Amino acid sequence: MSGRVRTASNLELLGGQLCLDFANTVSTRIEELSRDYLTAYGDLVAWGQHAGILTEDEAHTLLREAAGCPQGRAAAFEGAILLRETIYRVFSAISGRREPAETDLVALNAWLHKTLSRMEVVPSGNGYHWSWVAEADDLDRILYPVVRSAADLLTSGELEKVRQCARRGCDWLFVDSSKNHSRRWCSMKQCGSRIKARRYYRRRKRKS
Ligand SMILES: [Zn+2]
Repeated sequence: MSGRVRTASNLELLGGQLCLDFANTVSTRIEELSRDYLTAYGDLVAWGQHAGILTEDEAHTLLREAAGCPQGRAAAFEGAILLRETIYRVFSAISGRREPAETDLVALNAWLHKTLSRMEVVPSGNGYHWSWVAEADDLDRILYPVVRSAADLLTSGELEKVRQCARRGCDWLFVDSSKNHSRRWCSMKQCGSRIKARRYYRRRKRKS
């Protein structure tokens, strides 16, 4: 991406599932190349709003609550990063046809227990829909939709379409919904074109 600085609130949402977009809030786990877009609780809230899981009002409420509780805010942020890396390892393993580590599934299930305990059904039109129980002191409630998305993806037919970008220096995960299941990059613009440009340059160099 050129001409625009990536931040938590403008990051491309290319994963096709919320949980993968959350895993994609860091460029790569290769330390010397890594850029993390979540560096504080505020980034988490900004990303939640950008990803469509928080309204502006909800974001303001969370930030206000967080401002009054520095310890809770730090713990929620730390938990968010641990969850993100758990989700990343689980789906990165699956994309590589490996079994996720049991410790990661245990951690994800612990989150799932908490998430499910905060869910309820409420009347909506002629039917019902899932909703979240309001818990004023849950500063990590922003993560519940992410956890639910991870559980939904793990138990869905989409799971075998989870891929990881083929460019070194990009860890991004995505659901390959292409017709012939041949998508190799998180995006052609971001990574595919860079690889193609590099190949073109190498070919020209060999010829000259
Ligand atoms: Zn990529």
